[in-house]
Amino acid sequence: MYPAAGGNPSGRLVSFRLETREGAGLNGVVRILVVEDEKKLAGFIKRALVEDAHAVDVCHDGEEGAHLASTESYDLLILDLLLPKKDGWTVLREFREKKRATPVLILSARGQVKDRVKGLDLGADDYLAKPFALDELRARVRALLRRGSEASASTLKVADVTMDLLRREVHRGKDEIRLTPREYALLEYLMRHPNRVLTRTSIAEHVWDYSFDWQSNVVDVFVNYLRRKLDGDRHPKLIHTVRGVGYMIKEPDAEVP
Ligand code: CA
Repeated sequence: MYPAAGGNPSGRLVSFRLETREGAGLNGVVRILVVEDEKKLAGFIKRALVEDAHAVDVCHDGEEGAHLASTESYDLLILDLLLPKKDGWTVLREFREKKRATPVLILSARGQVKDRVKGLDLGADDYLAKPFALDELRARVRALLRRGSEASASTLKVADVTMDLLRREVHRGKDEIRLTPREYALLEYLMRHPNRVLTRTSIAEHVWDYSFDWQSNVVDVFVNYLRRKLDGDRHPKLIHTVRGVGYMIKEPDAEVP
């Protein structure tokens, strides 16, 4: 029996939404379940996805994962394989046996071909081997959420820089700027937060994987590579250093808070 108004029997707050494979429910919020027993990694994944404006639930064992996956309504499951209580293979198999079509992305240290094939045969939609960069995870999440729905507007623009996220092409004015995957990920992170100072720490967390070496100056090095390609001799300069804090990409006339 349902209560007369609002709420649902389990007492959890749920919004009214359609159960589809498309990217978002009625209210436009994408819900993602992360089943990952490495708590630090689960926290990193959650933060990255929340930053992309998704609603994220995390649990740390297969039993709870299976329970949540079958009782709640998610747009995507991110599933580790080696899990306490119930392994990811079993969670996935049971989920598909219930005819649930929600896309599933498997995360696992088992990066071998036969493991990958087994996961895909059991009904996973994609497979990401650990360790991975958070930006690769985010790109795959975007791709999975796009499936079944029309490709959404996917161009970022700051000043005269455009970034086509589907073609992975970057232009400044008419010039094509060729970037390495890491430079591209760095620029995407900056362009998603224009006119805002981003700390080295947040850049490192978003653009490098979770085994990032915090002692290194690799963020500064890559910002300089990117700056040389994007700004070079061009005016105005768009990538700015905020001494002692970090970096930002800035529209020429933007006020920075
Ligand atoms: Ca694990």
